[in-house]
Formats: sequence, C-alpha cells, structure tokens
Amino acid sequence: ERLDEASHSNRIISTYNQAEDNINVVVRVRPLNHKEIKGRDISVIQFPGNGQVLVEHLPNGGSAHKSKLFSYNVVFEPAATQEDVLQFSGIKRLIEMAVQGFRCTAFCYGQTGSGKTHTLTGPPRLFDRKKPSYSDAHGLVFRSFMYLFKLLDEKSDVNFILKASFLEIYNEKVIDLLNPGSARKPLAVRWSKKARGFFVENLFTVDCEELDDLTAVLEEGMRNRSVGSHNMNDYSSRSHTILTVHITSEQPAENGVFISRSGKINFVDLAGSEMTKKTQSEGKTLEEANNINKSLMVLGYCIASLSDRRRNNHIPYRDSQLTKLLADSLAGNGVTLMIACISPAMSNLSETINTLRYAARAKRIRTKPIVLMDPREALILTLKREVNVLQSENEHL
Ligand code: ADP
Ligand code: MG
Repeated sequence: ERLDEASHSNRIISTYNQAEDNINVVVRVRPLNHKEIKGRDISVIQFPGNGQVLVEHLPNGGSAHKSKLFSYNVVFEPAATQEDVLQFSGIKRLIEMAVQGFRCTAFCYGQTGSGKTHTLTGPPRLFDRKKPSYSDAHGLVFRSFMYLFKLLDEKSDVNFILKASFLEIYNEKVIDLLNPGSARKPLAVRWSKKARGFFVENLFTVDCEELDDLTAVLEEGMRNRSVGSHNMNDYSSRSHTILTVHITSEQPAENGVFISRSGKINFVDLAGSEMTKKTQSEGKTLEEANNINKSLMVLGYCIASLSDRRRNNHIPYRDSQLTKLLADSLAGNGVTLMIACISPAMSNLSETINTLRYAARAKRIRTKPIVLMDPREALILTLKREVNVLQSENEHL
C-alpha cells in the first residue's frame, strides 16, 4: 500500500533540466496494466521530483528495505500523455536541429511490453486502414511530423525537400518496410565516401511534400512490420525499426548561389532490452550473438565506450547494422534522445533496474555537434572571408 501511493500522486512530469547536451535521457513509466492489477502486482516506482526515479522494494520478500535513486533529464509518470512526451522530452529541439542540418536520433529502449512502440507510434489499431487519421493516442513520430511541418511553414523563404524511409533490422538483416519484397532478399549496408556515412543500398526513400505523405510512410511501414510474423510480440521484441526523415534545405544566398544543408532525424524502436541479457546468459560471443540480438549488444558497447572517455577505446560502430546506421548521429554529428521505457510493476523489477542503469550510463555521453555543410556552402564562406580580407586591406590603403 505504501508503495502504491506514488501512482496516486498528481505530479505527472518531473524535470531536472531541459539540457542543451548532445544526449538527453528521459524515462517514461507506463501505467500498471489490467493483468498486473488483477494479479495484485504493485508499483515499485516513486517520483521524488527533479527528474528522479526512486525504486523501492523488499528484496526476496525479506524485511530489509532497499531503494535506488536514479536521475535523468525528464521523468514521465504513468499519467503523462502522448502530447506531454512531444512537449517535454526535448524531441522538439532535435527536430529544430535536424531542420538546421544536424543528424539526430530519438530511440526508445526498454524491455518488451514497457511501452516503446506505444510511445513512438501509439497502439496498432491506429494503423488499420479504416481508422481516422488523428487520435489522442498518436505517438511521438506522428506528433513530430506535425511539429516539423509547422516549423517549415514558418520558414517560407527556404526551400525544403523531405524524404523518408522506414526499415527493420531482424537478425542483422535489413528489411525495407516500404518494400515488403525485400524480406526475401535483405538489403546491404554500405559505406559512402561522399556522404561520409553508412547507407542502405536500394532502400526506398519516398519524397514527402506534405504531412500526409510522411504519415503514409509511417502507416505503410507499421502495416508491413507485422506481415509474415506468426507471433507479432516475439518478432517485434527481436527486431529494431528505424524511420528516417531526411531534411534538405536550400536557401538563396548572395550572387544567386544557394546554401544547401542536409539534416535528418531517426526514430528508432529498439528490440526488447531483455534480449541482450538472454544473449549474454547463454554464454555466447559477439559473433554467435548474431542469432539473438547482436545490434542491441553493440549499441550497449558503443554507448558504454562513448561514456567512458578516459579509456581511449575503439567504438565498435561497424560491428552491427544498427550502430552502423546510427553512427553519424551518435558519433558527433548530432543530438540523441534516449527514451527509456519502464514498467512500474514489482514483477518487472529486475528488467526495470537494468533499463534504469543503462539509461543512467548513456547520459554520460558528450559529443560535439557539427553542422554538415555542403561543399558549395564551404566555398561561399571561404570566398566571403577572402572578400573581407580584401576589403579591410583596401581600407588601409
Ligand atoms: P513495447 O513496444 O515496449 O514492447 P508496447 O508499446 O507494445 O511495448 O506496450 C505494451 C502494452 O502496454 C500495449 O498494449 C500498450 O498499448 C500499453 N501501454 C504502453 N505504454 C502505455 C502508456 N503510457 N499508457 C497506456 N498504455 C500503454
Ligand atoms: Mg514494441
């Protein structure tokens, strides 16, 4: 009873700061579900405020009272709405930065059933063909699309080109969710010298002129995700999806030249975090982990390596498809938002603590964002500098 009080508190969101860091970590706690309530499961999560999560429990039914306190940028309590997550998670800053030419990633991490897909896309019924296009249940991706278009409408002097793609990584195979035929013939991930990053060969990228086009990409991908899987939950707990919006802007500069910038934002729905432990507990090497979930393990290594700056260690982006595709935003070109999803239930305690620890480690990442400049723009800046030098030389004559 004492533990349950927290869920009746009327605070919904608690914030430590709206940090300007290059990685922000927020936690979303889902409500207890019907099954848990019926089974007399209780909440072990309390919310002391200031972006803190307190986990209270009596280990092994004993009387020793144990509690653990974790801190994040923002904590969303069970009563927080989908709109709250848009407004307060920091995602709006990522969208703004993607428009300015940065590469940004928002990912949901957590055990199966903790609310990752709910947070990103909302309940599956939204993607039935007959359903209305808007609902309170819509998740962060759809809301981000709306915010993106609002931003673009405000910048009528700039010409924007939007493209979107939606892929799935299952057992290290990349499948195009906009081209279900690719399930039989997985796509290759290659390095591009020109783009200075990895890309997926032959991935459909759809031109999106309006909000409906982006929404269609989301809907089509969500429908294709479940195709061919007998047990949707088992399948989605082992696969990652990445929906990417590429934003290229062209702004007229002096002398009829255009300044072009390309940013992007990835929305990543990760495999269930319990998969990592399953791999490790079966004593498999990284190579053997392939069959279960290599990408999730390597993401953990990459995040751990990034946080530990004293050890000048090699960051193993190339070791998994997921980290290859996220390398550009994790490694220093952008901003990352991690949304750690947890269940409040006593029965999920050990996975919840794993997620809270993983999330707390990720917060130590410090990367330095840089704008990706088009070669033409770099040239313009060089020319401008030269003109300035010549002008000041003239003034001194
Ligand atoms: P995951 O993708 O992490 O496996 P889901 O997003 O599918 O988990 O969530 C599991 C179940 O819990 C779904 O039925 C979902 O609708 C529900 N759920 C998750 N988060 C919330 C929330 N914040 N509010 C209400 N229901 C939620
Ligand atoms: Mg899911």
